[in-house]
Amino acid sequence: MNTEKIQQPFKDVFPGDLSLNTMQRQTPHVLFCDVVPEKFPKAELLLFNDKLSEETGLGTLNPEQDLPFLAASSYPSDKIPYSTAYGGHQFGKWAGQLGDGRAILAGEIISDKGIHTELQWKGAGATPYSRHADGRAVLRSSLREYLMSEAMYFMGVPTTRALSLVKTGEKVVRDVMYNGRPEEEDGAVMMRTAESFLRFGHFELISASGNKELLQKLMDDTIERYFPEINPDDPQRYLLWLKSVAVKTADLVVEWFRTGFVHGVMNTDNMSVLGLTIDYGPFAMLEDFDLNFTSNTTDLPGKRYAFGKQAQIAQWNLWQLMNAVYPIVNDQQGLQQILGDFGKYFWQKHDEMTASKFGFQTWVATDTDFFTGWQHLMQDLQLDYTLFFTALEGWLKSGQPEPFSLENISYKHLNDSEQQPFADFLIRYQERLLSESSDRESAILLMQKNNPKFILRNYLLYECIQEVEAGHTEMLSHLLEALQHPYEMRYPELCIKRPEKYNLVPGCSMLSCSS
Ligand code: AMP
Ligand code: MG
Repeated sequence: MNTEKIQQPFKDVFPGDLSLNTMQRQTPHVLFCDVVPEKFPKAELLLFNDKLSEETGLGTLNPEQDLPFLAASSYPSDKIPYSTAYGGHQFGKWAGQLGDGRAILAGEIISDKGIHTELQWKGAGATPYSRHADGRAVLRSSLREYLMSEAMYFMGVPTTRALSLVKTGEKVVRDVMYNGRPEEEDGAVMMRTAESFLRFGHFELISASGNKELLQKLMDDTIERYFPEINPDDPQRYLLWLKSVAVKTADLVVEWFRTGFVHGVMNTDNMSVLGLTIDYGPFAMLEDFDLNFTSNTTDLPGKRYAFGKQAQIAQWNLWQLMNAVYPIVNDQQGLQQILGDFGKYFWQKHDEMTASKFGFQTWVATDTDFFTGWQHLMQDLQLDYTLFFTALEGWLKSGQPEPFSLENISYKHLNDSEQQPFADFLIRYQERLLSESSDRESAILLMQKNNPKFILRNYLLYECIQEVEAGHTEMLSHLLEALQHPYEMRYPELCIKRPEKYNLVPGCSMLSCSS
């Protein structure tokens, strides 16, 4: 791999703490701290993403030579790695300085095609931002992030990506259930990539420190680097930038709704200014359709981060970003306008997206009522979100008049009278389809493009993790293959509803933040 091509433009531009002081502390007025990652002499390479490596410009893997880099033990001698400072609102409250507590940046690489990619190790040891935690990651959650971020990529959802996964050969202690029974688990270091890992929280933290000059510098640099379509001399550039962040964020959440992704911890420190899915923790793919489903056990009391609330929370997070940059923008009306437009833009895109899942070429006003009725039906009959659309497509293709069976897509046993509303719904659906100007084949094509058939369900991840922890990698390879073709029914055995035995297993329907 061409690690000598790594640059550190962020460090070249912004103030940082170069002391290599490992003490965990507040770091006012700097945007990063240099950090020496931990050494893992027993490291073992478990996963490597060859295609991504080529795309980024890192090139081909030489396992023996490159393992130390992927395990964070070796890097270009003049490029000391660094962790960045950010703050955030967690569960609706300002949490002050957070920062990269277990993420360390190697820097950035530019491919021959001009693609910029930041390279970040996760789990390579404590940083000044570790706040009494260990800076480590366990294999369990690193596998979840590796596989899910790649699954999102192949579904077409903006996301950070996974380059490699290394088993550190060390044990890490975690109390998964938060019940005072900590256990040893395998440790891991993942290298992940993104055009930028900048979060809303980076802007919030500098703003909270009152350093307007640095805040403006970060805004200008972000615009110049990542929003080339905005003229840096335009007096309206900050509003244009925020508008773009709002649009990217709305587009992202529409994609989460399309695929059934529940992030689980939409704190402002987990929101990318580039509109990427970032920080895979207690996420889940929605199974039985439930707008009120939260995958995060910590979120249970208020269900702030439930599936159906994700747009509202994204808007709330944008509001915090706008509060943070207000001292530079100084245009309350302009900011309010962007926030207001977010809702309108999101719901329009959301409705168009939902229409496409049903095979409707355009959204029409009566669809709102149709969608609401359908959502109630899904919740009442506990139907699997993904399997429902697979079945609907199959039914359309078959041209059969009688309703399809719900047995394999419902999480409860339905008697005949309970199924009647479903039969009524299908009649309504057919009427709506007939009102379309295009034919059934076009509807089916549209459905095939918008409805993933394979989704990475938590129970699959759970089974895979158990196997990998026991030293078997067959299922891991199988999932890695399946997730690259989410819109095809290549592996029907992986496209089934969650088996009943997993209903109450932690890590299958609900997850803690412990990672
Ligand atoms: P998260 O909830 O994972 O987004 O993390 C919130 C904050 O806690 C971020 O600053 C993380 O870097 C930090 N953090 C989470 N887990 C650890 C860990 N094991 N060691 C150090 N910092 C951590
Ligand atoms: Mg985070």
